Amino acid sequence: MRLPKLPRPERYDLHLHVDPAKPRFFGELALDLEVEADTRALELHAVDLEIESSEVSDATGEVKVARVRQNPERETVSFVLDRPLAAGRASLRVRYAAALRTDLRGLYLARSGKRRYAATQLEAADARRFFPCFDEPDKKARFALRLTTPAKNKAVANGAIVRTERRKAKVTYHFAETPPLSTYLIALIAGELEASKPAHAGSTPVRVWCVPGKKKLAGFALECAVQSLRRLEAYFGLPYPYGKLDLIAVPDFEFGAMENAGAVTFRETLLLVDEKTVSLAEKKRVAEVIAHELAHMWYGDLVTMAWWDDLWLNESFATWMAFKVVDDWKPAWNMWLEFESQRAPAFALDAMENTHPIYVAVNKPSEATENFDVITYEKGASVVRMLESWLGPAVFRAGVRRYIRRHREANARAADLWGALEEAARKPVAPVVAPWLERPGFPLVSARRVDRGGRAFLVAGQERFFANPKVAETARAETRPIPLTVRVRRARGKDAVVRALADQATTEIELGPSDDVRWAYSNADEASFVRALHEAPLLRALGVDFARLRAAERMGLLGHQWAGVRASCARLGDWLDLVARLARESEPQVLGAAHGALAWLVDQVVPKLSDAQAARFRAWLAGIFAPAFAELGWKPAAGESEDRRQLRGTLLAILGGLAEDEAALAGAEARIGPYQKKPSGLDANLAGPVVELAARRGDAARFASYLRAMKRARTPQERSRFEFALGAFRDPVLVERALELALTDTIPTQDVVPLLGRLLANPAAREATWEFVRGRWKDLSPRISPGLASRLVSALPALQKPLYRQQVAAFFAAHPLPTAQRALLQALERFDLDAELRERALPELRAYLHALV
Ligand SMILES: [Zn+2]
Repeated sequence: MRLPKLPRPERYDLHLHVDPAKPRFFGELALDLEVEADTRALELHAVDLEIESSEVSDATGEVKVARVRQNPERETVSFVLDRPLAAGRASLRVRYAAALRTDLRGLYLARSGKRRYAATQLEAADARRFFPCFDEPDKKARFALRLTTPAKNKAVANGAIVRTERRKAKVTYHFAETPPLSTYLIALIAGELEASKPAHAGSTPVRVWCVPGKKKLAGFALECAVQSLRRLEAYFGLPYPYGKLDLIAVPDFEFGAMENAGAVTFRETLLLVDEKTVSLAEKKRVAEVIAHELAHMWYGDLVTMAWWDDLWLNESFATWMAFKVVDDWKPAWNMWLEFESQRAPAFALDAMENTHPIYVAVNKPSEATENFDVITYEKGASVVRMLESWLGPAVFRAGVRRYIRRHREANARAADLWGALEEAARKPVAPVVAPWLERPGFPLVSARRVDRGGRAFLVAGQERFFANPKVAETARAETRPIPLTVRVRRARGKDAVVRALADQATTEIELGPSDDVRWAYSNADEASFVRALHEAPLLRALGVDFARLRAAERMGLLGHQWAGVRASCARLGDWLDLVARLARESEPQVLGAAHGALAWLVDQVVPKLSDAQAARFRAWLAGIFAPAFAELGWKPAAGESEDRRQLRGTLLAILGGLAEDEAALAGAEARIGPYQKKPSGLDANLAGPVVELAARRGDAARFASYLRAMKRARTPQERSRFEFALGAFRDPVLVERALELALTDTIPTQDVVPLLGRLLANPAAREATWEFVRGRWKDLSPRISPGLASRLVSALPALQKPLYRQQVAAFFAAHPLPTAQRALLQALERFDLDAELRERALPELRAYLHALV
């Protein structure tokens, strides 16, 4: 499927005629390229483009295009020439027309109220839906864009506007020519937009663009972008490469954000913020996403993966870098704890038999799209972090700088990065890191303590971890080099950290004199991407000293033990005992680390208990968390830390959502009306849970009030809270209403899949939602964009029952989703894993509850 090395594009001169109010747009492309001797046809990527005319010339003059051949299976067109081209420079001119798309890719229509916008989203392989091109990441070229559009429209592209021509009702913007770029990084956004005043990072002007009226929400993003750029320039030791930086909030946008060089696009919720009514979690997420996209300006845009099989080179690094940058800017935010929360889904997915290696062969565009998942992002970032921890930050940075300088404005492969790191570290790097990239899954480290001759040792065994307890021993038997960091709690003096490269089935690590070692924790700071289980005496010691572990380790321990429960190598009771230790927990993320598994129990096992036992479980949960919430109260004290505010929100979500605590639910209901009237009257960290909990018992009047609140919302976050809570109502009539809305403009295309996800998570709505998806597929499928299809499929195991598993398999066999093939296999595996665990957890939970009395 790949294009040959030659022809090679050098410069695209692209004049576009776009009126977002019209269904079609037009383009005139003049492309300079280098060809080899005797070229008889030029093959370019093009999908859904109508070629109106084409001409070719080479050094000897005009060459006629004999015919234009469509190659739909290759997603290309061939301009077949009536004589061969001479070697060297040639030029191709094409006039074409195309529909403004409605599926959030290529050049597509985005609406905001009555206003219409044209916006691009070209990654992975959708530049071919925008203009004829060599749509592969290593075919870099310069781009000179022009746009003619109705005069009321503003426009943003990769280069700054260097000239504006007005002619009658039209305006033509000339954008500065770009440095060499891959096609997937080209951007154009046109429509009635407004921009903030520029802020400056050194000499780089930074602006935020949005639909009219929202400019006042740009301040936080500007500050964040400036703070990030400074830190990134310092880290890479290279100035920002693209002259100006525009951040654009697009009213309908598939992904979170997109790192187009110099013109980064975002969902509104991830860019526009009112600092008075945004929750801390939302603000952290905005900062993280901005830093992630800006890290790409160097790592991805300036140096680009040679092919999609190395997508992780872009995404793993940018994901890791974002946390590093924001952590440096806002140390009080504990960003690495957020990282720990975000990588939990990567552990869950990578424990499945249908996972994939970080590095994965890609043969066609849909396979590239499938790789934008938690393995490429969060697991990849974890491996980068482990590597940095192993080499040391200074050495790691020196290697990264070499790599960036050596490949700037060009492309690279994994081996290029290992080479640069090896030069900096003066030791082999590839043998340690390659198994982590090339093999699926991750190790289970089983740790026990041995004392011998007055010395204490940690004996660390390793095998591959599988969530399915029935996976054969032979599949588990695997070793790889693990950079292991062990925290040793000493009887005298401070904790010690011991490092070792554990590359055998069993590795013995010396900890110190026996009488000085109280316990050891085998994944200090959760630096390595492993699950760690400690044998009973160690686990007991860790439990007793739980509060003495670092917050990341408390999260880690909860995660490891739950994974052990899933895989049938740890006891549910031991995990519940750890949960009981959270009564006095001060870090919201640590509570968050228990939340997912508790929610799973509440959803899948608690309904199988007797009413009396279910009530006892809820009382047990409330008994742990209600006192802490009562102590905090509903109103933040003056001068209270941001962390405590976030903690209050997390406690409310657990108490109301999982323990169904009457006081919490009633408190939420009492506050929803006043919050709708005056959002600033409720602490922002409580707003999400209050809106969600009030929906659970909400009636038609409340449903209608949420719709009004969505339309009136003054910030994107406020709008989303109400929009997604439409999926939390339990009255069947309101469930149907929410489903019908998913087919209307009330729910933008970008939000259809996330809303269906919320409905599937709602036990009162999930079966109706599946019936709706199956029954209305013809109407619904155009609103499920290729990049989000896998998210819908991944939400389906919430249906639980074997009957639904069969239906899901049969339905997607009949209606295949090319970008969700792997997600479907994973979803079916998840149905099976959950079914097995439900059976096993039920008696354990019963016994635990019985023993409580
Ligand atoms: Zn990215």
